[in-house]
Amino acid sequence: MSKISKQLEKLYDGLYAEAEAILKMYSPCEVKVRNGHVKCLGCRVKDEVALQNELCCGGCNFHSVTGCTAEKPLACKLWLCHTAKTKYPEVEARLSVLREIARSNRLYVYRGDKAMTMRNAMSYFRWSGFMPTLLTLKRLFV
Ligand code: SF4
Ligand code: SF4
Repeated sequence: MSKISKQLEKLYDGLYAEAEAILKMYSPCEVKVRNGHVKCLGCRVKDEVALQNELCCGGCNFHSVTGCTAEKPLACKLWLCHTAKTKYPEVEARLSVLREIARSNRLYVYRGDKAMTMRNAMSYFRWSGFMPTLLTLKRLFV
């Protein structure tokens, strides 16, 4: 594994852990089981029947009846729907900082798991000749 790949992976894991900690602290999706169906803040204001048990994962290849099967889907951890964003602006503000770091390092891939996202990023950096910005979480949050 190249040095850049190791650094990118470290950044990926750091961003994922930080996003998870933020989501755990605020629970902006307000996920609950109601009448045997998993519901969230976004689902409740949309079509409850159509979206039952899917939250915002409908149509994703990683979605299963038991939930997400992707390993560390970073972009999904960094994204909030309009309803959740509006109710929890402080969460959106914190996630948006992480999202920009992910974007600038090619680590923000729609419905991508870790392997897919890392592959895309490495392929971009290999062929473009650009270098990742590799801003560390430590630099941002100390
Ligand atoms: S982002 Fe919105 S739609 Fe998706 S799980 Fe959270 S509240 Fe539900
Ligand atoms: S990858 Fe994202 S959209 Fe797909 S099932 Fe997992 S959390 Fe949902």
